[in-house]
Amino acid sequence: MNKPCETRLFIDGTYVPAAKGRVTPLIDPATESSWCEVAAADADDIERAVNGAQRAFEDGWRDLAPGKRAEILFNIARLIREHQEELAQLEMRNIGKPISDARDEVGLSARIFEYYAGAVTKFFGQTIPVARGGFDFTLRQPMGVVAAITPWNFPFPIASWKVAPALAAGNCVVLKPASLSPLTALRLGGLAHEAGLPAGVLQVLAGSGGKIGDVLVQHPLVRKISFTGSTEIGAHIMQLASRDIKRVSLELGGKSPNIIFADADLDQAAASSPMSVFANCGQDCCARSRVFVERKVYDAFVEKFVEATRRLVVGDPSRPETQVGPLVSAAQRNSVEDFLVSAREANRTFACGGDRPDGKGYYLRPAVVLGCETTDRIWREEVFGPAVCVRAFDDEEQMLREVNASPYGLSGSLWTNDLKRAIRVAKRVESGVLSVNSHSSVHVEAPFGGFKQSGLGRDLGMAALEGYTELKNVYIAL
Ligand code: NAP
Ligand code: MG
Repeated sequence: MNKPCETRLFIDGTYVPAAKGRVTPLIDPATESSWCEVAAADADDIERAVNGAQRAFEDGWRDLAPGKRAEILFNIARLIREHQEELAQLEMRNIGKPISDARDEVGLSARIFEYYAGAVTKFFGQTIPVARGGFDFTLRQPMGVVAAITPWNFPFPIASWKVAPALAAGNCVVLKPASLSPLTALRLGGLAHEAGLPAGVLQVLAGSGGKIGDVLVQHPLVRKISFTGSTEIGAHIMQLASRDIKRVSLELGGKSPNIIFADADLDQAAASSPMSVFANCGQDCCARSRVFVERKVYDAFVEKFVEATRRLVVGDPSRPETQVGPLVSAAQRNSVEDFLVSAREANRTFACGGDRPDGKGYYLRPAVVLGCETTDRIWREEVFGPAVCVRAFDDEEQMLREVNASPYGLSGSLWTNDLKRAIRVAKRVESGVLSVNSHSSVHVEAPFGGFKQSGLGRDLGMAALEGYTELKNVYIAL
């Protein structure tokens, strides 16, 4: 990509350098070469951005007719579509995401803006027949300034699914993308402004979460923090937010199960399961990284699954046929390799992968690990990379105990043709989303989020709009 991209902060409707002039270099994960420097915000920039957002809120965004807000959101969606290729190329270069996935994710992001543009005029309170008479009704009111903090694995869709409902509901947003993946978020600031969003309503600040995160989270004008990232940082944010009872929603880590019963369509399950864990090079909070296979079909499933995994196209993310690109950084690959070393030291079987291909780029071939014990680190902890563990089970109850022994509970799949079993098991798996005979986790129209240490609150669907409003009850004596 030769076109220069926007690397400055987006504050009050214009691109500006960081107040202290600091920058962070970005490295292309496919080539390991440094290719641009992005402005790094510090506390002064946070102060300016949050104050500007509060001003924009009071100056009219909160009172703008929902239909007017909807018009602007539809315009943002249109501009995203018009810039689909530019945004996809940016994401690909920035984090090594395969270009076909990057294009799909830009399309998804446009649909998210369209959904909330349409949804906001269908989101309303109630009239309540209170016992004492009079007239009682509820209002859904915006909160004020929302801090949206996002991770590097799906930068554009996750930014979109926080920004769109928050703005639709009448809030202003300070968006802080991950240090590794700021480019599409910064571009969104400019596109949204071009679409008619008033200055200050969406501020985008690139910068290190470790340095500025606490300042942003604790800012007295920030009313809600919407966070996606690790459980560790999520817990830290929740603790800071507790001091003044700020609202938080958290989408955190996962260790999702993929449960294969003997009566399932094994060919279909085996053919689709590799991408349920290796898509985005395994850097997916919904990755089905623990496969539970009923013993009767274990050998047959493993053979087909490993064969399908070997067929995945791993390599240059700029090629449209690539399914698995590089990991996002050297540090991320090292962290995944630590898990692989621990599995090798415990003499677990590598049915395929786990090695680095020759050449530049943070690549790692997808690894299928057999024979894990439930006490193994690679079985218990989130790897966030291209590694999956497969384990046989005999008994449904015992399998469910193992599934639910994880502190996480984000997503999962189960494969069976027995309708009663599908419903029984779906009810028992402790996770916020689950799919039967499919691996889909994210639907724009449906709530997305986790049980247990996978999170709090929900993104997407109408649930997200609820999460960006306060519920007020008004009583009128008659
Ligand atoms: P992370 O380290 O938790 O970072 C997430 C975001 O938080 C980044 O923008 C980061 O900024 C920022 N941050 C870091 N320290 C902070 C602090 N003290 N205060 C406020 N913000 C702070 O996670 P990650 O490494 O980007 O992503 C990997 C993790 O995210 C995995 O565990 C994965 O499961 C989880 N994830 C969950 C979902 C979901 O929907 N549940 C989706 C994607 C990822 P910097 O980049 O500058 O450090
Ligand atoms: Mg991190």
